[in-house]
Amino acid sequence: MGPEELTDGQIDELRLRLLALRAELEAQQAQAADSTKVVAPDVAIGRLTRLDAMQQQGMAIEERRRREVRLQQITGALAAVESADYGFCRRCQEPIGYKRLTAKPESPFCMPCTDGLERGLTA
Ligand SMILES: [Zn+2]
Repeated sequence: MGPEELTDGQIDELRLRLLALRAELEAQQAQAADSTKVVAPDVAIGRLTRLDAMQQQGMAIEERRRREVRLQQITGALAAVESADYGFCRRCQEPIGYKRLTAKPESPFCMPCTDGLERGLTA
């Protein structure tokens, strides 16, 4: 048997977590905006070489991209709360489960579907 459907209280709690998470990620994105600027060819930041600077910039861009994906999922999850679809897997329509949503409230998919999708991507 799969996870139970969420109670109204759980949905409310997770909605507040989604809002807090969105605010946190948006603040991080704003802070990160500076570190993803193009590295100038003649840049010298203390002992950092240009290569180091570019490597750090690449990591910052990747983190930024991941936060952007999470923000999109959070927006989708909040819209789902509004339309009373929150907590159900977008793929199989089964309940995602409170435990999983507590760890990752923006999850659009249940655990079995996420595993399947990840295997599909790497296959
Ligand atoms: Zn599913």
